[in-house]
Amino acid sequence: MPMPSTGLFNIKSSDVASIDLDNEVRVSAMTAECLSCGSTTGVEAGKGLESLPGGVVITCCECGSRQAVSSSLFSGATSRS
Ligand SMILES: [Zn+2]
Repeated sequence: MPMPSTGLFNIKSSDVASIDLDNEVRVSAMTAECLSCGSTTGVEAGKGLESLPGGVVITCCECGSRQAVSSSLFSGATSRS
């Protein structure tokens, strides 16, 4: 399965805790490649990763690029066991 790209970040791996029935995703940690500065950044809840209704916001720890990511990207990610 292709890794989801959000435009600013290529998500390498994500640690999805749960997705609620209303599609609110809870991601505890994620590794993403920042396409702005080329670094791979690891984020976790409260540290570069903010949960929002319907998605999360990733902040690159190197260059500060931020992007909201829809929780729909993770619906596929959780189907892997
Ligand atoms: Zn960056």
